[in-house]
Parts: sequence; C-alpha cells; structure tokens
Amino acid sequence: MRVAMVPTMGALHEGHLSLVRQAGENADHVVVTIFVNPTQFGPGEDYEEYPRTLDTDVEQCRQTGVSLVFAPGLSEMYGTTGTEAPKHFISFRISKMTDQLCGPFRPAHFEGVLQVVNKLFNIVQPDAAVFGQKDIQQWFLIRQMAGELDMPVEILMGPTRREPDGLAQSSRNVYLTSDERKKAPMLFESLQRIRWQLEGQCHSARSTRAGEAITEPGTPAVSVNPAIISEEINRLDENGFHVEYFSLVTTPDLQPADVIEPGRLYVIATAARLGKTRLIDNVLFTFKDSQTHDA
Ligand code: AMP
Repeated sequence: MRVAMVPTMGALHEGHLSLVRQAGENADHVVVTIFVNPTQFGPGEDYEEYPRTLDTDVEQCRQTGVSLVFAPGLSEMYGTTGTEAPKHFISFRISKMTDQLCGPFRPAHFEGVLQVVNKLFNIVQPDAAVFGQKDIQQWFLIRQMAGELDMPVEILMGPTRREPDGLAQSSRNVYLTSDERKKAPMLFESLQRIRWQLEGQCHSARSTRAGEAITEPGTPAVSVNPAIISEEINRLDENGFHVEYFSLVTTPDLQPADVIEPGRLYVIATAARLGKTRLIDNVLFTFKDSQTHDA
C-alpha cells in the first residue's frame, strides 16, 4: 500500500486540490496535512491573520478522495498552547540554497519549513509527497533535504494552478483589494515576457551559429542581457508593486545565472508586495532544441 502526502497550511484552493489529485494518481491513499506552522513565519508576518477554514477544507478533501486529513494543533506539534514560543532544541541550518530568492527576505522561514515537513514526514511516513511549483525554492530545498538525509520519500512537483487571468492561486490572494486583484496578474505577465525574451536570445544564438556553419559539437552558453529583468522590475514598480526580487537562477542550487547553458533547468522567480499582500510566482526555462520547459 502506497501513501502520498500533501502538506498544506489549509484555506484550500484548486492549486492544493490539483496536488491531491496528482498524489492520488501516485498512491493508494492520500493524506493531506493542514497546519499553519508558526516556526516558518517571521515577526510581523501574517501568522495570526492567515486564513483558517478547516471545516470547508475537510469537506473539499472528502470530495477529492483524500483518505485522511491530519490537522494537528500547536500542542501536538510543538508542545505549546499558542501563547508561548514553540519548544525545540534542534533546528536545520541551510547553506547556499537560501542565499537568493525568498531566503534573504524571510530569515528563518525555510528552516521552519524543513523542520515542520520533516516532522510531518516522520508522523505520516509517506512513500511520496507532492509540493507545488508555486513555492519553487521550497520545492528544491525539500528535495535536497530528502536526498541528503536519505529520507525514504519521493518528492513530486505539481504545476502552478492559475486563475483565468494568469494570477497564481494562493491562500493569500484573499488579502488583495479589488484594485490590487486587477493588477496582480502583471507578475506572471512579466515572468512570461522574460521567458519569451530568453527564448528569443537562445533562438538567435542558435541561428547565428547555424549560419556560421560551426561544425564542433555542442551549443555554447548564451549570455543573459540583464536589462530584460530590470525593465520588468521598473514596469512593476511603476504599477504599484514593490518588487523584492526578480531573478534568474540555476537549478538545483538556486544561484544567480548570467548565462544559459543548453539543457540546464533554470527558474525565473519573483516576489513582490502589492499593498499588504506578498505575491510570489515563477516559471521554468530550459534552452533545448526549439522549446522551453512546459510550465
Ligand atoms: P500552502 O498551503 O500555501 O503552504 O501550500 C501547500 C502546498 O500547495 C505547497 O506545496 C504549495 O506549493 C502548493 N500550492 C500553493 N499554491 C499552489 C498553486 N497555485 N498551484 C499548485 N500548487 C500550489
């Protein structure tokens, strides 16, 4: 009997449910965990106001074929009642993979994520776990943790589910005012424009090379024009976003990329504040024969 797990913080939406369905295709039983984990929220972040909708979440899980919902309280997870800080003496230290993207803006966030995911893996003991591409840095960190620490769990990625206008679905989208909601899809549009421009640069590098009739094997790396990213940051800033980062990084180590090497998977990722809402999104990019990665 194979068990697949989908860890969440609740306030479930279609993005979460798509992970549940993917988990169901990979296992006999799906376990969904619902826990708003305090150790991954920094001071001043939205731990208190994070939407909590347990009854509807459980009903959605029931309708999507989930076998078990594990929704522990603070005392079960950390031996606290909520007024004191979680008690623990052991924590994770991450190097390099949190130097970029959300890492510098959310100190200790990913350490808290790895802590809770590790605890949940130990409690549920799944054969597989599905996490969303939406939180791409989290995905690579969890996969790294599972690999480095020889955890017997397969880490799967579910594609980002979007609203019809392209906005990535998120439990935090409920914080957006109606004006902000109209602007929010600009984030994905910017990411897509960067991806198209990178495709264009790679395509012309390939054509030039073909025109020059170079005979040695292998396609050389293509340098990235940094202006394509700064233009998008300016455009977003002019439209009321406060961009925290907009980066092109290598995988799996999540380091800044200034060249594109054929065949390698890259992430173009951004985080921006719109009013009081922090939005994140990303797209994947690979320079392969004539297409990009499908995401
Ligand atoms: P959260 O409840 O926000 O902690 O997310 C729980 C899981 O759902 C994580 O693996 C997220 O990456 C994933 N997730 C969140 N939003 C989406 C989305 N729009 N599409 C796909 N997966 C998502």
